[in-house]
Order: sequence, then C-alpha cells, then structure tokens
Amino acid sequence: MQYEISKEKSAEYLRQAIQHMSMQDTAFHPVSYAVWYEYSSGEHAHLIDEVNTLIEKEKKLNEKSTAQLFNKHIASLDADSAQNIVDRFNNMVSDISSTTEKAGQDTTQFRKTLDAWSGELQQLDGEVSRHMGDLLSQTANIQQSMHTLQQHLETSLHEIASLKNEIVKARQEAISDGLTGLMNRRGFDVALKKTLESTTPYVDTCLIIGDIDFFKRVNDSYGHLFGDKVIQAVARIMKTVSGDLYTSARYGGEEFVMLLPHTSLDTAREVAESIRQHVANISIKNNVTSKLISNVTISLGLTAYQPGETAESFLNRADQALYTAKANGRNQVTLIADEALAAA
Ligand code: GH3
Ligand code: MG
Ligand code: MG
Repeated sequence: MQYEISKEKSAEYLRQAIQHMSMQDTAFHPVSYAVWYEYSSGEHAHLIDEVNTLIEKEKKLNEKSTAQLFNKHIASLDADSAQNIVDRFNNMVSDISSTTEKAGQDTTQFRKTLDAWSGELQQLDGEVSRHMGDLLSQTANIQQSMHTLQQHLETSLHEIASLKNEIVKARQEAISDGLTGLMNRRGFDVALKKTLESTTPYVDTCLIIGDIDFFKRVNDSYGHLFGDKVIQAVARIMKTVSGDLYTSARYGGEEFVMLLPHTSLDTAREVAESIRQHVANISIKNNVTSKLISNVTISLGLTAYQPGETAESFLNRADQALYTAKANGRNQVTLIADEALAAA
C-alpha cells in the first residue's frame, strides 16, 4: 500500500484519529493510534467494517479488541507502510512546532518594539500610557503561553520518537515467532505474496517446506521442553542456511518454510539437502539423563513457482512434495518438478 496523500489530508486523518481514540476505553498509544488512523483514512474496508460492528455491539473499543484489530489489519501491512503512518504524524507535529516557534519569535519582536516606544509614549499622555502598559503585560502573557506550548510540542516530539519505535516493535512482534525468533506464518504469508507480486516475469522462485520427523516421539521420549530445544535448533539451521538470500519461517509447530527467490530448482534442492544434513547432525544434551540425543531428522518438500498460480497452490504443491517425502520413508528431500506438472 502506498501513502501518497497530501499533508492537509493526513492532518485531517490525524485529527479524526485522535478524536476517535479519545472516545475509547484505550490509552493513547501507537497501537490504538495506528488502528484509528487507518480507520479514518477510509482505505481498509475490512478494518472499518469490523470496527463499526464492534462499536455497535460494545460501544467502545478496549485494549484487547484494539490489539486484535491491530494484529489482524495493521501488522500485516508491509514495513514501509507501518513506518509511513508514524512518519507522517512526526512531520506534522514538527510543522506545528516550527510554526509556533516562528509565532513566538514574532511576539518577542513585537514586544521589543512596544518596549522601545513605551518610554516616549508615557511622556505624552496618561491614558495612552496606561493602554500601553496593558498591551505590554498582555504581550508578556502571550509570550509565556507560546513558550509553554513550545515546551509541550517538544515533549510530543519525544513521545512520537518512542511511538515510532514502539509501532515498529509491535509490528515486528506480530510477525515473529516467540520460541525461535524466526518469522511466523503470518509474516511469511505476507512476504510470500509480496515476492510473488514483485517477481515479474516469475523466474525461478522456489519454496521448501520441512517437517521434523516423528516429533511426537521426541516429545514423548524426552519431554516438551526438550522438544522446544529441538525446534530452536532446527530454526537456527534455517536461519543460517537462509542468510540474506532467502526468507525462512516457522510455519507451524514443527514445520518450517523457506522461500528462495531467483533460485533454480537445482540450487533449491541443494539448499534443502543441506538443511536435511544439518538437522541430521543436531546433537542436544538431555538434561535429565545427561545423554546426547542425536537422532533428529527432517523431511523436506520443494517445488518451483508456476507463473500465474496463487500463493496457496504454490504452498500446496510444496506440501504435497513433503507428504511424498514422509511417505517414502522420511529424512529425505522430495521435489515436484516442472515435468511432473506438465504431465499432470
Ligand atoms: P511426522 O513424521 O509424520 O511429521 O510425525 P510427527 O510426530 O512429527 O507429526 P505430528 O504432526 O503428528 O506431531 C507433531 C507434534 O509436534 C505434535 C505436537 O505436540 C508437537 N508440537 C507442536 N508444537 C510444538 C512446540 O512448540 N513444542 C513442542 N515441544 N512440541 C510441539
Ligand atoms: Mg507436522
Ligand atoms: Mg512432524
């Protein structure tokens, strides 16, 4: 999504967002702000519908419903859009701040001029002199108010800087997996869609899905905590193998995915094979018995993107390949190649 809207418009959205925010049972924070800003912009039909339904039912949004709306509708925005929301807010307050500063300077100048004249005017007429005194004290008041406003704005700017960090952090948390630090399914689905939209013509984009073998047994034999350690170890392998080139994620419990743009099926097969071998070499100490456990294996399916297909059908085919790897005995890489598709 792009945000190429005028400053006036974004100021209007901001004003509306703040007004909406103030009517909820929610503190003023970036998550609430982002939800109401997007609501006010009118861009998100789904978000608007859901908010309207909630307001109709519950009258107000609370922390929980606001967080849910944020996760569902805002966190899935691409990073640039999330950043944009905050940047526009920031720019606007900076503008107001510099306008006020300028007004403050003008008032100071005005006061200086009055001061310069007052001496001369006092000698002229008692009434003029009195008026001049009033004018001077009012100007001093205005100066003081300007100064206070300026200070408030500076505080706001600091708050916005932390708001910016928080919104980026909140977005990051919404798309990452707590146990492994890898991207989660939601994040991966967005990344996959983005890659498929940007890769024109669709050249050599491959997808690997891996699933740890007999993981239930691992849990049953060594306990859930040990199972978590295995998941973390596999995640580290996915991360290392991905490097900066590929995108990997924890797609479900013990299931991992990797997206490989600009990569031939042959190269992707080598990558999958390398994941398989690294996992087969995992060795983790069982803290209860102090023995090293090293019989962890993974099955992997892979396939290449076919021009025109949906992300779902791409994922399904990789999943079919994984299913075949499981059916053929596990601890192996299986691919569904172009020839198989052509023959189907
Ligand atoms: P297969 O080789 O066919 O994949 O067999 P499997 O036992 O790995 O397959 P299944 O999908 O039946 O079992 C997956 C298990 O993974 C079940 C679930 O309890 C476990 N699991 C899912 N998420 C987690 C997690 O976060 N931690 C741990 N320790 N276990 C998990
Ligand atoms: Mg599974
Ligand atoms: Mg499994």
